[in-house]
Amino acid sequence: MEAFDIAGLCAHPDDAELVMGGTLAREAAAGRKVALVDLTRGESGSRGSPAVRAAEAAEAARVLGASHRESLGLPDSALERTVAHRDVIVSALRRLRPAIVVTQHWDQRHPDHGMASHLVYDACFMSGLRNYRPDLGAAFRPRKVVFATSMTETIEAVPSFVVDITATFETKMRAIRAFASQFSPAAGETVALPFERFQESVELTARRQGQRIGVTFGEGFVTREPVEIDDLLALRGRSI
Ligand SMILES: [Zn+2]
Repeated sequence: MEAFDIAGLCAHPDDAELVMGGTLAREAAAGRKVALVDLTRGESGSRGSPAVRAAEAAEAARVLGASHRESLGLPDSALERTVAHRDVIVSALRRLRPAIVVTQHWDQRHPDHGMASHLVYDACFMSGLRNYRPDLGAAFRPRKVVFATSMTETIEAVPSFVVDITATFETKMRAIRAFASQFSPAAGETVALPFERFQESVELTARRQGQRIGVTFGEGFVTREPVEIDDLLALRGRSI
């Protein structure tokens, strides 16, 4: 049975790249086994066919160094906090058995993003219940669930910790650019946010998160529980 160190679970192909791409690339470069799980195929996206987006998603995973990527095929733009949708994720968790799960923050503009956050959190708990749906695989519970705070448009979530992605920022941007169909308007199409502006926005967010810990680029994350520290002297960064 496969077992992964880290699994990034997000609503749509390209979400993980945007909010945790630098972190996952850094972990993969350190030899960690990383899986990407897209809850939907992004079929409601305004551009690019599902087949094109699947090929782009595979390429982006390769760029980040993830050893596995799959789509759970849940309906795009119709994710619901239902038992049926949750159990599709339970099944994936029991198959992939990731130690750490990273997902999206719950307070987001796109309803799918918030829904994915709740579904993944619920699924991580239910997956560990021995007598719950044994037909979906042997019980397994990830040790930690971590929520990415980058690109939360409606709030500025204060991260529990920030990962320095200065060394992998370019890799993150290459992975985002792998989704070329999303950024290629048809002839005559008016684009609300041109790709150059979009890239600037991604960079600004990474710079803001990095600023919090005194590095060039960062990605922020929250955990619902406080972060445990063994050794005060091992605390990194500076307070003042
Ligand atoms: Zn999305």
